[in-house]
Amino acid sequence: MASSEHRVVITDCDHGSIQEEKEEFDRMGAELLLAQVREEEDLIHVCREADGLINQYALLTRRVFENLPKCKIVARYGVGVDSIDLRAATDLGIIVANVPDYCIDEVASHTVAMILTLARKTAFFDHQVKSNQWDFRKGVPIHRIQGKTLGLIGCGKIGLEVAKRISAFGVEVMTFDPYIQRVEGGIKLTDLETVLRKSDFISIHCPLNDSTRHLIGEKEFQKMERSPLLINTSRGPIVDEKSLIQALLNGLISGAGLDVLETEPPDPKNPMLKMENVLLSPHVGFYSEESISELKRRTARNVSEVLKGKWPGSVVNQGVIGKTRATISMD
Ligand code: NAD
Repeated sequence: MASSEHRVVITDCDHGSIQEEKEEFDRMGAELLLAQVREEEDLIHVCREADGLINQYALLTRRVFENLPKCKIVARYGVGVDSIDLRAATDLGIIVANVPDYCIDEVASHTVAMILTLARKTAFFDHQVKSNQWDFRKGVPIHRIQGKTLGLIGCGKIGLEVAKRISAFGVEVMTFDPYIQRVEGGIKLTDLETVLRKSDFISIHCPLNDSTRHLIGEKEFQKMERSPLLINTSRGPIVDEKSLIQALLNGLISGAGLDVLETEPPDPKNPMLKMENVLLSPHVGFYSEESISELKRRTARNVSEVLKGKWPGSVVNQGVIGKTRATISMD
C-alpha cells in the first residue's frame, strides 16, 4: 500500500473516467483505487484496507462490511442505496451517504420538454415532414398551452422545479402530495381526485414504493375528465402500463410522455412503441455532462469529508449518528 494516510476504493462504476473523484482525493493526499469488482469475495479482498468506499452496483452485504475493519464511510453514486445493507452499516458504525439532488434541473427540464413536445406535437410533425408530409392539418387538434392546468403527483425537489418552469408558459399548477402541508410558488395543494379530474397535463414526481406502485391505474384513468397528457419521469411501475395502454386506445388521455417504463427496455411488442401520441425516452432524465460530473464530485466529497472528520452532505442511515467509527467534529 502507498504511504497515503487514507485509502479509498471505488468498488465499481459504469462511467469511463474517474477524473473528478481523483481530483478530490489528490487534494487531500488520499490513495484512490478503481476496483471494478462485484463478487463478495473480491469485494472483501480488495476493500479490506479501505477507509472509505464509493459504490455503484456491487452489493455491499453484512458479510462484506464485517470484513472491512477500517471502513468509515460508503458513498453511493446517486440517490438509491439498494446495493447497501444499511442495517449492517449502521450496526458497524459505517456512515452511508448519497447525493439526492444532482439532477433536479435535468429531470425538471426533461419533463417540461415532454409536455411541450406533446402539446405542440413537434416530434410528430418532425416525423411527418421527414416523410414528405408538409401538412399541419395532419396534427390537429392542437390546443393553446397558456391557461392550461398541470397537476403534479408529488411536489418535492423535481416537482417544484417543473412548476417553476411551466409557470413561464402561463400554465396553472396544482399538486397532490400527502406529505406536505403547504407549497410555495402559487401552486395549489389539493387531493388526487381533483388532480385527475381537473388537469390538462398530469406529471408524476413521487417516489416508487408500496403505496405508489400502480397509483395510476384503470380507476384513475376513468376519472381524467380532460383527456390530459400524462408524463412520467419518475418510476415506471407507478403507472399500471396495461391500463395506460387502454387509456391511450380509448382516448381517456390524449398522449403520454414516458422516460420510465414498467419494463426497461420495453418489450419490442409493446404497442406504445407504435403510437404517435406517445413520446418515449430511455430513462435519460437524470443525464447531462454537468449532472454526472457533479455527481462524481459530490460522491467523492462525501467520502473525503468523513475522512477529514466532517459529516458528509447527505447521511442516509441517520441511526449511525452517535456511533460512527469515524471521529466527526461537531462544529
Ligand atoms: P423528492 O423526495 O424531493 O420528492 C418526492 C415527493 O413525492 C415528496 O414531496 C413526497 O412527499 C411526495 N410523495 C411521496 N409519496 C407520495 C404519494 N403517495 N403521492 C404523492 N406524492 C407523494 O424527490 P425528487 O428529487 O423530486 O424526485 C422524484 C422522483 O423522481 C424520484 O423518486 C425518482 O424516482 C425520480 N427520478 C427520476 C430520474 C430520471 O432519470 N428519470 C432521476 C432522478 C429522480
